[in-house]
Amino acid sequence: MEEPDYIRLVKETEIYKNCTNIVVGRGNENADILFVGEAPGKNEDEQGLPFVGRAGKNLDGFLNKVGLGIDEIYIANILKCRPPENRDPLPEEIKKHTPWLLEQIKKIKPKVICSLGNYATKFFLSEGNVDLMDKQPGITSVHGKVRFVEIDGVKIKLIPLFHPAAIIYKRDLLPLWEKDMEIVKSEIKESVAQKKLY
Ligand code: URA
Repeated sequence: MEEPDYIRLVKETEIYKNCTNIVVGRGNENADILFVGEAPGKNEDEQGLPFVGRAGKNLDGFLNKVGLGIDEIYIANILKCRPPENRDPLPEEIKKHTPWLLEQIKKIKPKVICSLGNYATKFFLSEGNVDLMDKQPGITSVHGKVRFVEIDGVKIKLIPLFHPAAIIYKRDLLPLWEKDMEIVKSEIKESVAQKKLY
């Protein structure tokens, strides 16, 4: 069988050539909530799973505190491969890696997507127009706010959240994260009657 375009595009990027594993995602493929982070780090690259390093331990702990387990969510990233030294994603990489993420969104059909941190949030707020990402507001001003966006014909209810790695360094963000997660949970309840997206 021929390889799908969204995989071929990832393989065209230099970071694919230098990574150990493609990190696709983990969790429940029928989940109501999809978390989207930035890119795999060292641990994620080695294990082939997202959020299994320090930021991941934090995420698991924060989810636990608001009563959510891995079986109730799915986690993926904007980039499927680790950038060297964890440098910021390049626009070209985001363009070539996000068609795979869109495939995942179409399959999972989450009720809510929670973008974790600035890169993921700006990707969704720019509605997939990577060249407009720079013009989007930062996470500090949009976290916990419900936004409706559309990418490639897919309607998305977005709730941006602080990145769990940011909370490691700024513990005072944790109460805000927990408050934002209460919004996520109530938005999911609201969507129940409307079945999946929106
Ligand atoms: N940070 C991310 O954004 N994603 C991961 O998978 C790990 C750390």
